[in-house]
Amino acid sequence: MSGKVAFVTLGCKLNFSESSALCREFELNGYKRVSHTSKADIYVINTCTVTEHADKKSRNLIRRLRSQNPDAVVAVTGCYAQLKPDEILSIEGVDLVLGADQKHNLYVRVSEIESGRRGKESTETSRSYPCEISRLRTIFPAYSSDERTRSFLKVQDGCDYHCSYCTIPLARGRSRNIPVAALVNQAEQIAAGGIKEIVLTGVNTGDYGKSTGESFISLMNALESVEGIERYRISSIEPNLITGEILEHIASGGKFLHHFHIPLQSGSDKILSAMRRRYTTGDFRNKTELIRKLMPFAFIGIDLITGFPGEDEEGFLESCRFLESINPSFIHIFPYSRRNNTPAATFRDQVDERIKKERVRRLMEMNEKFHSDFLKLNTGRREKVLFESTRRGGMMYGYTGNYIRVERVYDPDLIGKIVEITI
Ligand code: SF4
Repeated sequence: MSGKVAFVTLGCKLNFSESSALCREFELNGYKRVSHTSKADIYVINTCTVTEHADKKSRNLIRRLRSQNPDAVVAVTGCYAQLKPDEILSIEGVDLVLGADQKHNLYVRVSEIESGRRGKESTETSRSYPCEISRLRTIFPAYSSDERTRSFLKVQDGCDYHCSYCTIPLARGRSRNIPVAALVNQAEQIAAGGIKEIVLTGVNTGDYGKSTGESFISLMNALESVEGIERYRISSIEPNLITGEILEHIASGGKFLHHFHIPLQSGSDKILSAMRRRYTTGDFRNKTELIRKLMPFAFIGIDLITGFPGEDEEGFLESCRFLESINPSFIHIFPYSRRNNTPAATFRDQVDERIKKERVRRLMEMNEKFHSDFLKLNTGRREKVLFESTRRGGMMYGYTGNYIRVERVYDPDLIGKIVEITI
């Protein structure tokens, strides 16, 4: 079997790691990976459903790819496919919809459809199960291998929290994880490919260990001993799950970098409670203070949702004051998106879209100052950078341990090397 396969991945790094693992299976079976902008025999769209905008983007992509090659197999998977398969099947030309828990069947199902088209079976037979959605009980192991220097390793899936705005637990199911021993084995495979940095990803990464009776700290300890991997990052961790033990481990000078991505979501306790988050602003402040005490130059990126129902101007200003008081290194800003089947969608006091836009703009201005303060704090310091392979305008770039993007003149000998520089 040979042909061209193209993947398009929307959403989070978990989806990226899964797409990469799925694509490897096609490549192992003789397929050539091509860009989704070119003509392929198979298009796979790995969708996201975190906002209404993400759903729309998936629908547009499906139509575009279908018209790019009317004879191609078009397969759709991911969170949007899990939650709204009928909506996707109603788009003309979709051959296969696989729920989040059926991703592992992708290669087999697509091959069956292709075989049908080549006349070995009737097309009707191959289309007799265009949609498979199940109850999200298993876990599909995955890591990315698209970059030469860094890999995203999936350690956990699903979430048992019920934040009032979030559809992810519906799309990804209950919290479950891959055992420590299996992850060590995957990290060794990644190292064998010459990759030096791993980013641990999951839906609720810090909740690691529930389904196997292990813990996140045991995973960290085990990964430290994988030869060849020199750096680990944690993609994101809930504030209530960052323990003193985890912070001390990271501060102790092992392979885990001083880089934190912590979802705050709001700097108002009233809104945090309406969001059903599991911490207060006071708890969050304590965590950031402890991080800075142990690691004064750590990068602390946070997620923030603005325009949540009930966030009036005073609530928004309260959130801004809290941000100023904790001085994050970076804010990822999201306007609240009203999602069906979530409690917050029915809350009164929904915020007008224009107001949300204006607040996003104000937060972006604040973010510029936060990030530039962080860069100033680090200027003149020595840090280690892992240089990546991308070449742009004669330059190459890499990230310091504390997630500062550094550029220098392109030198192919530095790709994949960890080099000490002065910021
Ligand atoms: S912690 Fe909350 S926001 Fe994050 S995936 Fe779970 S329910 Fe969604």
